[in-house]
Amino acid sequence: MTNLSVRHIGDPPLAERVLIVGAHPDDPEFFCAGTVARWVAAGTIVHYVVVTSGDKGQPADSNENESFAAVREAEQLAAAQLLGVQGVTFLRLPDGEVFDTLSLRAQLTAEIRRFRPDIVLTHDPLTRLYRQHPDHRAVGAAALAAAFPASRLATFFPEQLAAGLQPHVVRTALLFGTERPDTFVDIAPVLERKLAALRCHVSQASAFPGGLETRVRSRAREAATPVGLEFAEAFLWVDLE
Ligand SMILES: [Zn+2]
Repeated sequence: MTNLSVRHIGDPPLAERVLIVGAHPDDPEFFCAGTVARWVAAGTIVHYVVVTSGDKGQPADSNENESFAAVREAEQLAAAQLLGVQGVTFLRLPDGEVFDTLSLRAQLTAEIRRFRPDIVLTHDPLTRLYRQHPDHRAVGAAALAAAFPASRLATFFPEQLAAGLQPHVVRTALLFGTERPDTFVDIAPVLERKLAALRCHVSQASAFPGGLETRVRSRAREAATPVGLEFAEAFLWVDLE
């Protein structure tokens, strides 16, 4: 990696409340289960918003999107529960068909105004150097638009204020799946917990060629090496205040 700059390293950044916005069931675990486990252990309240229910990530011989979505939601709930996440909100947009629309921004703004997080974690929408699911780009873009400036300004989606929600300032966004991480959370103490959470996504077992454990360990080691840790999850820090 060239021009490595480190904004934060070690423990997860201090926060009372953290909202994680992922495109599919298993994205929160794949990108940040270790950080979530460490936050929960430190008393931080973590909530997930999962935009699609992953209905296209099913075995090739099946075409029952609705029941498969229910399977993936159950897997997501089990993983979240294992990690001590407070709750999961499913927006149930169709898998593979997510766009950064005003409607999605409104839904995510409402979730932010409801949960009132200090930090929002989501996909980096602007990667170019490696393949990235288009839903990840769309969700990252919409979540960032919701976190800044929509959720803080009463002029955005005023119908939500009429319904009792208040504007809310998100302090920081942390982007996962990023090409230029500057925030490195040490997940060595919780690597087994991350693996256990990922194993809850039973229907996705074949999505990890070479085996889940090998893939997760090597990615966590890759993320950690530039900063001299053993296993890490890496993010790009975005100040929103
Ligand atoms: Zn995904």
